[in-house]
Amino acid sequence: MGSMDKPGSTLPSFPSLAIIDEADESTHAASTRPAPASTNGANARDARTDSKVVIVGSGPAGLTAAIYAARANLEPIVIGGYVPGGQLMITSDVENYPGFPDGILGPELMEKFRAQAETFGSRIVDVDVERVDFSERPFRLWAGGVEYRGESVIVATGASALWLGLDNETRLRGRGVSACATCDGFFFRGKKVAVVGGGDTALEEATFLTRFATDVVLLHRRDQFRGSKIMQDRALEHPKISVRWNTQVVDVLGEDVVSGVRLRDTVTGEETEEATDGLFVAIGYKPNTDVFRDWLEVDSAGYLVVRDETGTRIDGVFVAGDVHDHRYRQAVTAAGDGCKAAIDAERWLEAQGIAEKATATAW
Ligand SMILES: Cc1cc2nc3c(=O)[nH]c(=O)nc-3n(C[C@H](O)[C@H](O)[C@H](O)COP(=O)(O)OP(=O)(O)OC[C@H]3O[C@@H](n4cnc5c(N)ncnc54)[C@H](O)[C@@H]3O)c2cc1C
Repeated sequence: MGSMDKPGSTLPSFPSLAIIDEADESTHAASTRPAPASTNGANARDARTDSKVVIVGSGPAGLTAAIYAARANLEPIVIGGYVPGGQLMITSDVENYPGFPDGILGPELMEKFRAQAETFGSRIVDVDVERVDFSERPFRLWAGGVEYRGESVIVATGASALWLGLDNETRLRGRGVSACATCDGFFFRGKKVAVVGGGDTALEEATFLTRFATDVVLLHRRDQFRGSKIMQDRALEHPKISVRWNTQVVDVLGEDVVSGVRLRDTVTGEETEEATDGLFVAIGYKPNTDVFRDWLEVDSAGYLVVRDETGTRIDGVFVAGDVHDHRYRQAVTAAGDGCKAAIDAERWLEAQGIAEKATATAW
C-alpha cells in the first residue's frame, strides 16, 4: 500500500483478470509457451468437470498449486471463488513479494499468477464451492450448480480480514486503511498510525508498527484487552504506544488518503476526532472453512488442521495457505504452501497409480 507516499495511487480495478499485458509477454518472444487459456478462449472451451486434482481457491496458494499441478500434467481444475485472486485484490502496492523490486499492485500480481496457471493448462472457474462430499473418491464438489469430481483436492480458500464495516473505511482501503502491518507498516515511516482492536493481533500489530511510526494509538472499545498478558505488557510499556480505552471508531476521515478518525467514547457517548496518517484494523480474520467442517478438522479459531505439512485426515485431500496458517499470513508463504500441496498431491496420486511417475524435471 503506497498511497501514503504516492498521492493519487488509486486501487486499480481489473474488470477481467483475463487481459494480460501483451508487452510483458513480448519480452519472451522466443518462448514457445502458449497464450493463457483466458486470452485465447481455451478456458471458455474447456468444460471439464473431472480432474486428477481439483483446487478450491484462486489466491496465491490456490494458483501456485495450479501452476505446479498443471506443469506436472495433472490438468487441474481451479474452483476459484466469487472473489477471484483472493485478499491481494483489496490492496494496492505489494512491496514484499520477491521478484518485483519496484513493488507491484496486488491485483496485478494475482493477474500474473492466474495467467501463469492458465498458460500451463489449468481450468479456472470463478464460482464458490457450496457443498462437498469427501466420503469416497473421486471426491465431489458442487459449485455454481455444477458437480466437479477430483481424484485429489487441494483446499486453499484462505481467510477474510474482518473490517469495521464503515463506508469510508472501505473507500480508503489501500490509501491509509490496512489490515496488515507486516505488509504495510513500512509505508508509515515517520508517521502517526492508529490500530483498532484489543486482541493479540492488535497488540502485535501495534508493537510491530513502532518500528516505523512516530506514534501508535491503540483504540479499544472496552477498558481491558483480550490479548495475552505478555503482549499487553509489551505494548503498554512501549513509549511510542498510547491507548484510548472504551473507544469506538465511528468514521475514517480523509479525501484521497486517511487524515484521521472519528471516535466515540463507549461510556459517555462523546465524539471526538483524532488525526492519524493510517488506520490498521486488527479485529481478526474469518477462515473460509464452513463448507469443509463436516469433513476436515478445524482448530478452535476455525482454521483447518494440517497433518504432515499439507495433509488432512482424509487421504487425497490437501490444504494450503491462510485457510490453515494464522501465523504468517503472507502471499509468499501461501504460495509456498500451494507449491508443497501440489507436490504432495502429485506424489500421492502417483502412489495410487493415478498419475504417471514424475520425472525429475516435472517440477
Ligand atoms: C489488505 C491486505 C493487504 C495485504 N498485503 C499483503 C502484502 O503486501 N504482502 C503479503 O505478502 N501479503 C499481504 N496480505 C496477506 C495476503 O493477501 C494473504 O496472506 C494471502 O492472500 C493468502 O493467500 P491464500 O491463497 O491462502 O488465500 P486468499 O488470498 O484469502 O484466497 C482465498 C481464495 O479462496 C476463494 N474462496 C473462498 N471460499 C471459497 C469457496 N467456498 N469456494 C471457492 N473459492 C473460495 C476466495 O475467493 C479467494 O480466491 C494482505 C492481506 C490483506 C487483507
